[in-house]
Amino acid sequence: MFLTQEIIRKKRDKGVLSAEEIQFFVRGITDGSVSEGQIAALGMAVFFNDMNMDERVAFTLAMRDSGHVLDWRALNLPGPVVDKHSTGGVGDVVSLLLGPMVAACGGYVPMISGRGLGHTGGTLDKFDAIPGYCTVPDNELFRKVVQEIGVAIIGQTAQLAPADKRFYSIRDVTATVESVAMITGSILSKKLSAGLDALVMDVKVGTGAFMPTYDKSVELAESIVAVGNGAGMQTSAILTDMNESLAPYAGNALEVRGAMDYLTGRSRPARLHEVTLALCAEMLVLGGLAATEEEARVKLMAALDSGEAAERFSRMVSALGGPADLIENPDKHLEKAPFIVPAPALSAGFANVRDCRGIGLAVVALGGGRRRPSDSIDFAVGLTDLVGLGEQVSVGQPLAMVHARTEAAAQQAVKEIQDAYAISAVALTANPMIYRTIRP
Ligand code: URA
Repeated sequence: MFLTQEIIRKKRDKGVLSAEEIQFFVRGITDGSVSEGQIAALGMAVFFNDMNMDERVAFTLAMRDSGHVLDWRALNLPGPVVDKHSTGGVGDVVSLLLGPMVAACGGYVPMISGRGLGHTGGTLDKFDAIPGYCTVPDNELFRKVVQEIGVAIIGQTAQLAPADKRFYSIRDVTATVESVAMITGSILSKKLSAGLDALVMDVKVGTGAFMPTYDKSVELAESIVAVGNGAGMQTSAILTDMNESLAPYAGNALEVRGAMDYLTGRSRPARLHEVTLALCAEMLVLGGLAATEEEARVKLMAALDSGEAAERFSRMVSALGGPADLIENPDKHLEKAPFIVPAPALSAGFANVRDCRGIGLAVVALGGGRRRPSDSIDFAVGLTDLVGLGEQVSVGQPLAMVHARTEAAAQQAVKEIQDAYAISAVALTANPMIYRTIRP
């Protein structure tokens, strides 16, 4: 038997908590016997005094075990259960491509995705843009879709890692989100509760990334790889660039359209393609579906070129209640914004995205994201034709097309886009797309 305040005191005084103490505290978060003030106090103590890797593993496993843990073994699936998670970005539509592509190569992807956070988009919001698509199916349907199609992308249920839900909501209002130890536990407890064999983590780097510096991104990636593997799930991390929108479009229905164009081969923007292939290939190698990255890439291209990946996407959408002809007839189903206006460059030169976060915030201001958790989303709005970093532009040439609900919202977004880009006289050297891969 432990005393909650003694556990807080120990961490306050820079002590190392035992697995039993952490389990006791996390059980109290879930059953309500630990108060909000105590949770906030421990959060602040961990923020300042950190947790070592053993504490992080115990914390992550305790939060995983606070709710349901999915178990796929009874289904005898003929391939590995694998997933990807990203720290979030702008125009990051990778999940919509990667799930079907990996499924087409023999993996099983039960992806439990989240809503947009701050300036970043959320996979769940993108699927909500598809009329009829059910992001909260019952467990039986979720399992059936994963088994039969190889991929189901849905939302988090209240039963998965409830301790994290309570802890995160308190961290959010007590300035303790920015702790690598607690971010690691928060992300991995949710991913572990999906019963995965392997996880690839996409940790973004740059002005649109959740982590503020390159070093912090590396620290988070190393922590996730150590704790994920320590908790029994094969885990790698890839550090990828988020100094500009990953796809040349951002906004919910616009990203669904872009994802379908990618899968069918109508348009495969180079940066999006490179990051998607790197993450998918790592999943295939971790899951034993390919011996090398090269072999994985050959399989993935075959899954795209044969139409198999597009087919998986289509089948998933219709199995979860969406239109069966979404890929063939996107205009019939996806909402379009009434005002589509260019955001012209104010000077000539080479485009440099000064602030990728500003691009994401412009989408939020258009109504494509939330200012408060209770806000509803306008799926139709967003940006397309975003000019890439280093591209040459002339005066008046569009930096992007703004898709807005009203004329006034469109004009405001035009200003925000013009502010987010700096136009320079000389071309800057391009950022790498992939900075580093971290494996155990
Ligand atoms: N996302 C999460 O799920 N948890 C965190 O702690 C931070 C970002």
